[in-house]
Parts: sequence; structure tokens; C-alpha cells
Amino acid sequence: MNDPVLVINCGSSSIKYALVPDSAHQPRLSGLAERLGSEDARLKGVDGQGRPFSRPLHGAGHADAMAEILEGLEEQHPVAVGHRVVHGGERFTRATRIDAAVRRAIEATVAMAPLHNPANLEGMAATQALFPDLPQVAVFDTAFHQTLPPRAYRYALPDALYRRHGIRRYGFHGSSHAYVSARVDALSERRHGGWLIAHLGNGCSTCAVWQGQSVDTSMGLTPLEGLVMGTRSGDVDPGLHAHLARQLDWSLERIDTLLNKESGLLGLSGLSNDMRRLHQAAAEHHAGAELAIEVFCYRLAKSLAGLSCALPRLDGIVFTGGIGENDSDVRARVVEQLRHFGLRLDAVANADTVGGREGRIDPGEDGRAPELWVIPTDEEGRIAEETRQLLQEEAAHAPQ
Ligand code: ADP
Repeated sequence: MNDPVLVINCGSSSIKYALVPDSAHQPRLSGLAERLGSEDARLKGVDGQGRPFSRPLHGAGHADAMAEILEGLEEQHPVAVGHRVVHGGERFTRATRIDAAVRRAIEATVAMAPLHNPANLEGMAATQALFPDLPQVAVFDTAFHQTLPPRAYRYALPDALYRRHGIRRYGFHGSSHAYVSARVDALSERRHGGWLIAHLGNGCSTCAVWQGQSVDTSMGLTPLEGLVMGTRSGDVDPGLHAHLARQLDWSLERIDTLLNKESGLLGLSGLSNDMRRLHQAAAEHHAGAELAIEVFCYRLAKSLAGLSCALPRLDGIVFTGGIGENDSDVRARVVEQLRHFGLRLDAVANADTVGGREGRIDPGEDGRAPELWVIPTDEEGRIAEETRQLLQEEAAHAPQ
């Protein structure tokens, strides 16, 4: 393998990893340690020979799981480690070499990403201990959105909350939006134009990109704002919190759990957070599943229409993430709700562009209508690329 970068993505109870070679033509080793901290903890993935494996980790936490992952990669000799970090606040506008000061700055944003940033820090500590000589780089989900203008990132709240406490919109899924917008700029003849990206996975967000820069996005201070997601509510009336506290005597923790874990597709359908399961149930006329899909698509169309205000010109819409890459029905509904933007769908291309295929799904007859694309995201690839780029820049500037 050729100078691979090890990409680590630590979630609250999982660690995803990928060993990304410097050529797109070589295979990637990847895997997932999940349900960490529980008796069912497991490590599964693909080994150096392309064989799938799965083994129990019996109650392992992040540090034990990381040691197990790194042991399995000992033969591979990564040249650097790129860590996905969820929240970088306003300080981090690009990938950054990790040192003690950077770790302290990430600790300072823990309050804004209480589930994710502590896990990211644990991942850094474990890799540092096991690979003390490898350069470690943090790539922030928020960094791509640091180009938002104040009109997009400020809430209509008293100024002091922003100045003293950093209360503003940050946006997330930055590596995905950055990868997909760069890819559509490379594929389309309308280079460096105005694109709306819909990243639709378990977490969902939209982003408006003008000439390669994020100019607005649907997520805010936390990854709860915006679209309907798997278990997250997205936008609700902010008055809901006070109403639940006063009328039902709910605690802040109870409200937080409701909005993050019990809402979205799961809450609306009363059935599942998995879009595939909802389509099956809707085909059998399950009213909750039908409603969940309808609200998901309508709110997504509304978000895209709203974000179009950030663009001087709309060149097209790109779908990505598990739902965006696979769900031709959701794509068709959203396009139908945005017909007044001149959008048209090629039904055959839409049905065919699933399962990791990349391509255009509009008929392309009218050269002026916005284009429609499906582009499978590659967050690991983007994190590896930014890690490599930083190290090359450092080498170029190092004293001879
Ligand atoms: P994550 O945000 O965890 O990375 P993914 O990007 O893998 O999530 O997306 C998960 C979502 O994608 C789930 O709602 C899943 O149902 C949906 N999904 C995956 N495959 C399909 C498919 N063939 N059709 C519809 N939805 C799909």
C-alpha cells in the first residue's frame, strides 16, 4: 500500500476507521467498532486481504477498541492519522496539526458537542499513545462552514450571547459538503457555480455552496437544527421547550433526549428511523410511515428553497448520504416540490443511480435548468486528503 493515511472517526459509542491509500485505485481497509461500553461491543471490517471479519470486544471502551484496531493495522505503516472532530468552534477554519494547545481548544468546545468532542479527544489520546511518532491532524466538521457570512450564521438573539458565549450557527457535515461540492464542480460543465447539497443519512443537512465556499447551511449551534433526521426533530418552535417544561414538567435532559433520540422519522412514524423500513411499511399503508416520509421530503424541499436565497445563481442540486444516494423515491418527491425552480427529473436515470453510482439525473435538455446530481459522499477520503495537504504544506515551509 502506498503511504496510507489512517482516518479515525470516534462517535459516542463507536469508532469508524479507514486506511486511505494515496491512490484512488487501491483498496481501502476499513472497519467499525460499535456498541462500545456494552457487553455486545464488536469490531468488524475488512482485513488486508479483502476478507470481512467480525469479533466480540466484550465491554471494551474507546481506548481498548482503539488498541485492538491499531494492532490489526500494524503491518500497514500509515504515514499520518486524520481525526474527524465534530466541533471546532470559530477557532478552526481548516485542518490543523494536533498538539497540546489544539487539544485544549477542542476541550473548550465540549459544551457545544457533549457527545462527540470527548470521544474525539479519547481517540486522539489512544492513537497518540500507540503511534507517538506519527503526525496527527484534526479535521473539523464545522471548518468548511467558517466562510458563512454573519447574516447566515447569526441568530436574532442579543449580541452578548454571540460575543461572550459563541452562540451562533456553525453547521456540520463539513467534510461531506466539501467533498461533494468539489466533486460536482469537477464533473459539471458549470464549474465553480452555485450548488445546493442535500446530505441525507441518519443525520441530515443541506448546504449552499458558491464558488467552492459554504455560504449557508441548515444545521446550527448543534447538529439538531434544520431537517427532519433519523431520530432528531430538526427545527421546532423554540417555544416548545418552555411549553414542555411548564405544562408537562419535563426536565432539560428529558427534552434533549426527546429532540435528539425519539423524534425525526422514528418519532413521526412510531416505527423506525430507517428509511428503507419506512418505505416497506408505507407500501403496506402504514399511516405513520407515510406521514414520516411526506414530512421528511416537504421539509427538505423547503430547506433547499430557503437556502437558494444564499446563491447568486442556482446551477443545481446534489443528493448524497445513505438516503440521498439510494432513495430515488425521496429524490423524485423533492424535485416535484421544487418544480417552480425549473427542475426536471430523468425518471430512468433517477431509478438507476443507486447503490454507490454517481451521475446526473436530470434530462439535460434545457441548458438553463438547474442540474440534478447524485454523488456518493467520501468523508474519509476528504479527511485523508486534507491531512496529506497540511503535511505537504508543512514540509514545503520547513527550514531546509
Ligand atoms: P450515517 O449518517 O450514519 O452515515 P448513512 O449515510 O449510512 O448514515 O444513511 C443511513 C440512512 O440511509 C438510513 O435511513 C437508511 O435507511 C438509508 N438508506 C440506506 N440504503 C437505502 C436504500 N436503498 N433506500 C432508502 N434508504 C436507504
